[in-house]
Amino acid sequence: MKHRTANRSGIVIRRRVLPSGDIIVTLLTPQGKLKAIARGGVRGPLASRLNLFHHVGVQTYQTPQNDLATLKQAVLEGALPSLAEPERHAFAHLLAEFADALFQEGEFSQQAFELFAGALRGVAHQPDPEWVALVMSHKLLGLAGIVPQTARCARCSAPDPAHPDPLGGQMLCAACASLPAYPPESLDFLLGAVRRTVRASMDAPVPPEQRPALWRTLERFVTVQVGGVHSWRQLVPSAAVV
Ligand SMILES: [Zn+2]
Repeated sequence: MKHRTANRSGIVIRRRVLPSGDIIVTLLTPQGKLKAIARGGVRGPLASRLNLFHHVGVQTYQTPQNDLATLKQAVLEGALPSLAEPERHAFAHLLAEFADALFQEGEFSQQAFELFAGALRGVAHQPDPEWVALVMSHKLLGLAGIVPQTARCARCSAPDPAHPDPLGGQMLCAACASLPAYPPESLDFLLGAVRRTVRASMDAPVPPEQRPALWRTLERFVTVQVGGVHSWRQLVPSAAVV
């Protein structure tokens, strides 16, 4: 039986310590998502290198008997210390859970990696990490090809809907809606978020008081379309979850 060794470089998006002291990590890499186990890792030098959001170079090997690759070495290639600040940490965590849910293991996506790495840098350094997280969540959705329908009412297909869809996270027309229309800034963001450049969206932030409704919409949409993101749901700013 042959062992397969591989060298990869990626960002830790999930980290779980087992009672045995093994650490299971998920990395987002330019070659896709990679899940591996660092055996006994919590007692060794690997523990601090495999922290959440660290960019690490790793060596893994895989035997035919195990579906989980074993992580032999990890070298720290980059870290964003400001992500330890509580508010930034929450949004970085949210984006990591989101990327984990959207992208599959082994699915090649250089673009997903670059977008996610850029999102983490933005959350680490920008003065408004919440806005970075909202913008980048929509860009990640767009890249995954999961895009809310905004041209037509999700219920009756009437054109140019402008009201929230509290069940599906899409958009409803005035006749189908039970909630008031989105304010112009929110509507403009929702109509353009996927197509527009990150820079353009970053330059036109939606006022903070309108954001809980945007989070609620995103949470609904992701729950319905992607599923399996319960931990992500808990990370959405609590004001947005009713
Ligand atoms: Zn309608």
